Amino acid sequence: MNKFEQLGLNESLLLAIKDLGFENPSEVQEKAIPVLLEQNTDLVALAQTGTGKTAAFGFPLIQKIDAENRNTQALILSPTRELCLQITNEIKLYSKYIKGLHTVAVYGGASITEQAREVKRGAQIIVATPGRMQDMINRGLVNIKNIDFCILDEADEMLNMGFYEDICSILSDTPDEKNTWLFSATMPAEVARIAKQFMSSPVEITVGSKNSGSATVSHEFYCVNARDRYEALKRLADANPDIFSVVFCRTKRDTQAVAEKLIEDGYNAAALHGDLSQAQRDGVMKSFRGRQIQMLVATDVAARGIDVDNITHVVNYQLPDEIETYNHRSGRTGRAGKLGTSIVIITKSELRKISAIERIIQQKFQEKTIPSGIEICEIQLLHLATKIKDTEVDHEIDNYLPAINEVLDGLSKEELIKKMVSVEFNRFINYYKKKRDLSGEKGERSERSSEPREIRAGDPVRYFINIGTRDDFDWMQLKDFLKDTLELGRDDVFKVDVKEGFSFFNTDGEHTEKVMSVLNGYDMNGRRINVEISKNDGGGRRDHNGRSSGGFGGGRSSGGFRGERSGSAPRREGGFRSDRNSSAPKREGGFRGERSSSAPRREGSFSDRPRRSESSGDTPRPRKPRRS
Ligand code: ADP
Ligand code: MG
Repeated sequence: MNKFEQLGLNESLLLAIKDLGFENPSEVQEKAIPVLLEQNTDLVALAQTGTGKTAAFGFPLIQKIDAENRNTQALILSPTRELCLQITNEIKLYSKYIKGLHTVAVYGGASITEQAREVKRGAQIIVATPGRMQDMINRGLVNIKNIDFCILDEADEMLNMGFYEDICSILSDTPDEKNTWLFSATMPAEVARIAKQFMSSPVEITVGSKNSGSATVSHEFYCVNARDRYEALKRLADANPDIFSVVFCRTKRDTQAVAEKLIEDGYNAAALHGDLSQAQRDGVMKSFRGRQIQMLVATDVAARGIDVDNITHVVNYQLPDEIETYNHRSGRTGRAGKLGTSIVIITKSELRKISAIERIIQQKFQEKTIPSGIEICEIQLLHLATKIKDTEVDHEIDNYLPAINEVLDGLSKEELIKKMVSVEFNRFINYYKKKRDLSGEKGERSERSSEPREIRAGDPVRYFINIGTRDDFDWMQLKDFLKDTLELGRDDVFKVDVKEGFSFFNTDGEHTEKVMSVLNGYDMNGRRINVEISKNDGGGRRDHNGRSSGGFGGGRSSGGFRGERSGSAPRREGGFRSDRNSSAPKREGGFRGERSSSAPRREGSFSDRPRRSESSGDTPRPRKPRRS
């Protein structure tokens, strides 16, 4: 007798379970299923995400439903449309050998009349989001007055999302005699209140310790300067070539901006947030599931209910406002017994939050340093070598070998290997050899008093730059150059003060990261640009440059630099960009989860050079992260 049979499940369920490939029940299943089968009781079950809660209530529910009676007998409430569809799908799989059993999903953003019609045709089980359910009830499109079971799935999430009143109202529309089963990852006060209000002496099941994180997730934090946040994210991605991750930002705007930057820089990334249409969100989720997207940048709300297995990393690009939310984020990885890593990119001023989170998850964080450029190059190189080794040869290539051999004739094996690997490696090494380390920020900061103060997004920051009139710039030309190179707006670069061999200028703190990463190392006709944050803070804002460089103002605008600009001014090698647009395979079908090292799609990230807007082609330009 198999384990599921021992729990008391019947033949049609056992067949479906076999099809699903479940061998052994998970702990929450083992604890909940027999209780729910044997007793008519209320139940509160606490278990982390990814522990198999859907089947824990789904199996006994299906067994208890009378499939010959077409009335609605069960209502499952879940926080999001995404989850609602997932549960519906699972329930359908579990019940596929039971004739006449119908499950209908009811959620916002789709036709309510169509959903009502489906319900009317006979749905013993309705899986609904609270908002749409309330709507249906108000319009008299559904009758839940005689249900036998009500399941609150991810109760903590639903309450987090502000569904308390909807849930109370829906529950008061159901009969008192029904059984209520509440499933949740955590037990905050609001969940306890619902349980108290709507349940009578529920059986309690806890898997793992209450409110604790999953043992399959390890937690790491990286302390960086605020302006290095994005660069740190990129390095973490580069240091994990097979990353398949959700990157959490605090706001929709940041989510969009980070995703766009990543895309610009050649990563397989996409944004998921509430400003996208449902169709767009569905598209993103589909690509993510299909692994065409390696980095899904999401808000907490939009990511609720993301149930994708095998996520390798959760990245907290910014910590959530409510540290409790951390648990939900990290629960997106380490599912179904797999290992996962939850990463926090944090600034020194936020460090105290780490211990607060440690108390909640009852697990310790490991402090790590962002890998150096050299370390990343090493990782990438080994990854490439492994990939070459593991690549299966398609013998179509045989046809081309004579010609290829001719080209490569005379190279020794050693030379050939070196050159082959360099094709990929050069990009990394060229990018990273100019880059400073992001690590050791904490120590450095306390030792060097000249370390820039913490930059806040709205504050003006003054920079020193090692180019000036000697390089044929006057203030207007330098301003134009900076604005174009940094892709900033007209007024974003101000207080430009040009001296002979160097200059000063200001931007808002929100642009500092970009200024530093784009300009430092920029090659201007063989001259390497160097930018530093100036200790002299340059005073207030935008008094229009003061024309401090007097005679130069405008006078030479048609001469020297400007006139030559299209020819000799520093710009990225044009070919790069158009290359990527025309030939970069977004994703070759069979490659699931693997970065294709030969696809030119990542090249953007390994050029120091800023991109010119006019060559942006079809890639969306980053929306400017304006602070209000
Ligand atoms: P939760 O609701 O607790 O977050 P799910 O019910 O969504 O977790 O299950 C997570 C994943 O584990 C799903 O892919 C599901 O198919 C799988 N799963 C559930 N139970 C088992 C089992 N007994 N054996 C193997 N996989 C399982
Ligand atoms: Mg679930």
